[in-house]
Amino acid sequence: MSTGTSTGTSTGTSTGMDLQIDWTRCDGHGLCALLLPESIWLDDRGFPVFRRREVPEHLLPHARRAVAACPALALRLERSAPRPAPHPAPSHTAPSHTAPSHTVR
Ligand code: SF4
Repeated sequence: MSTGTSTGTSTGTSTGMDLQIDWTRCDGHGLCALLLPESIWLDDRGFPVFRRREVPEHLLPHARRAVAACPALALRLERSAPRPAPHPAPSHTAPSHTAPSHTVR
């Protein structure tokens, strides 16, 4: 039974890992798309096209299997580059002013 709670995105909990391809090695064998169709398609010439590079937790074992099976050692898993932090929302509140004290002693 599901608890209905999730700590990840709608596509799964992030592992912080991305798929990368060394295009100088890839021969278009297409094995990666067979082993990881959730993340990789093949173009009309048989070369991989990423549906998404980020690997969610539930696909990590499949991604590792695809990396290990790549006959050209072209597919890799790498730590995701840090994503830029979102800009803070602008504050529309007026600065607060403290009334000057005119107390005479
Ligand atoms: S299995 Fe490796 S060589 Fe084959 S298409 Fe995928 S990345 Fe390229």
